[in-house]
Amino acid sequence: MAINEAVYRQLSGELQPKDVTLVAVSKIKPASDIKALYDLGQRDFGENYVQEVMDKQAQLPGDIRWHFIGHLQSNKVKFIAPFVHLIHGVDSEKLLAEINKQGKKLNRVISCLLQVHIAQEETKFGLDASELDALIKAVTTDAHQWSHIRIEGLMGMASFSDDQAKVRAEFQQLHSLYQLYTPATTPQVNFSVLSMGMSGDYQMAIEEGSTMVRIGSLLFGARG
Ligand SMILES: *Cc1c(COP(=O)(O)O)cnc(C)c1O
Repeated sequence: MAINEAVYRQLSGELQPKDVTLVAVSKIKPASDIKALYDLGQRDFGENYVQEVMDKQAQLPGDIRWHFIGHLQSNKVKFIAPFVHLIHGVDSEKLLAEINKQGKKLNRVISCLLQVHIAQEETKFGLDASELDALIKAVTTDAHQWSHIRIEGLMGMASFSDDQAKVRAEFQQLHSLYQLYTPATTPQVNFSVLSMGMSGDYQMAIEEGSTMVRIGSLLFGARG
């Protein structure tokens, strides 16, 4: 249940010169572990479950930037909309519309990443390239309707595989999609974040252009 301080220091030292943001993935871990990392200077934390992030947000310091990285159901957006810093897993227009609606109610612009399906495994969520294109077009062609969201980039998860070449190809695929939309800057679509890489593959993800890594088990130990 203790955090790995040496790993945290080493990781921070590795990421900072590269301008890569570390999101410490604290799902299932106790608030005391988050506080311990916070005390070392960490501010970005990632959570996967709505009830859990609400509980933790209520008891931890107000300057923590909460990243929602799990699969988000539309009917639960309202619970995290008041405080969430970045929603990583947006994978449908319906979900984006609900985030926009809740943002409007709160008079805040909510930052989102669109999740792209890059892994070959069937189980991972996300948009394919043509769905991504359609969603970005929908948002850019009717900017007025989407005034309370900002799409800041893309998120993806590579296959859980020992096949390095396959994992690298998936990261490259996501990076080229990211580059495709990066110059198309509007208030609603303004790319600067490519969220890819986890404990097992973050170094390769950074080599392939990641700007934000989501790391859990390396920092907090394996999850039960
Ligand atoms: C749990 C999780 C992570 C962290 O995984 P580790 O392998 O523990 O670093 C990253 N991204 C997402 C979307 C997750 O669900």
